[in-house]
Amino acid sequence: MTRRALITGITGQDGSYLAELLLAKGYEVHGLRRRSSTFNSARIEHLYQDPRDSDTNLFLHYADLTDESRLIRLLRRIDPDEVYNLAGQSHVGSSFDEPEYTGDTVGLGAVRMLEAIRTSDIDCRFYQASSSAMYGAAVGRQDEDAPFRPMSPYGAAKLYAHWATATYREGYGMYAVSGILFNHESPRRGETFVTRKISRAVARIQAGLADYLYMGDLDAIRDWGYAPEYVEGMWRMLQADEPTDYVLATGTSYSVRDFVAAAFEHAGLDWEKHVRRDERYLRPTETAVLIGDAAKAERELGWKTTVHGGQLVRIMVDADIEAVRHEGRPWVDRPTPTS
Ligand code: NAP
Ligand code: GDP
Repeated sequence: MTRRALITGITGQDGSYLAELLLAKGYEVHGLRRRSSTFNSARIEHLYQDPRDSDTNLFLHYADLTDESRLIRLLRRIDPDEVYNLAGQSHVGSSFDEPEYTGDTVGLGAVRMLEAIRTSDIDCRFYQASSSAMYGAAVGRQDEDAPFRPMSPYGAAKLYAHWATATYREGYGMYAVSGILFNHESPRRGETFVTRKISRAVARIQAGLADYLYMGDLDAIRDWGYAPEYVEGMWRMLQADEPTDYVLATGTSYSVRDFVAAAFEHAGLDWEKHVRRDERYLRPTETAVLIGDAAKAERELGWKTTVHGGQLVRIMVDADIEAVRHEGRPWVDRPTPTS
């Protein structure tokens, strides 16, 4: 029997890779996309076929996580076996400017999905996109038992959704799990996240289209992995016998400055000549260090990352250099880079 998956946030970085993975596994994939005045489906264009004249397994539905009645109607119609809740305002910096909207989509949005599943009596497994931002000021290498101490409206909203997911699992017996994912990047990463902002700027500076890259805090340390490997972990979490939460991370650390230096060096440029500071990119509170421990996922799910550090930098810079060379040509239809 064909399995059906519903992905909220299918037009985002992770949603697009997850859709690819599930389609390759033979799933019928349904994705929720927001109505907007311009197309927001560039990341999944290469997967989309007109449902009228093909045997496509990918179906898109307009919906917003702030609209509960729409979510209920769609869930009843689709009747999925697996639901991946990836949608929401996902930028930590923006969450300081739009804290209420962030709480509405990231926090309440997850609860709306959980309630929609519960009240529709649909028998499905639920994945919640939790985040290392929930650890915030916590110190040390973080695993599933590390204390949470979010330092942004985004982190706080994720933590609300995280505990709501655990409550529905324990209180209603739902198969509901949270993947606590540390930062994961790719050529499809949103252009305002730091890694993509850097790789894009390097490509444009190398091509003579820009001179400077304006940055905030260069001292922050992150555990950056490669997004295609992380969506595999999401899927594995929903195939486990028992529902439980998992950290996904590389266990390695890189500072923003290291990433900048490596990216410019890869393109044959001296970063100190091109990087300038702009106070606007500083946040009211900053999470200085995030490093994860994914031992549980490796032990129980057989999940492990292979791409991080310099290799990730090269994948991203090469993809943006290629995109600048082929300006106007969509980059998503190219094969997922592996080296
Ligand atoms: P992303 O690229 O920003 O994608 C977010 C998705 O959510 C997009 O499809 C976006 O639609 C959609 N969306 C935003 N607001 C919505 C709303 N009100 N209703 C319906 N859809 C809405 O994020 P990502 O990097 O793929 O991350 C996926 C999830 O994992 C997010 O929840 C993120 O917070 C979480 N997470 C990410 C990381 C990471 O490092 N990437 C780490 C931990 C957790 P548009 O395309 O129309 O904007
Ligand atoms: P985050 O870990 O979810 O906040 O992911 P980001 O990619 O947005 O930011 C990673 C780190 O880079 C954070 O510590 C930011 O403060 C730092 N950073 C420094 N300059 C910038 C910038 O210009 N843009 C962004 N997005 N982050 C920056």
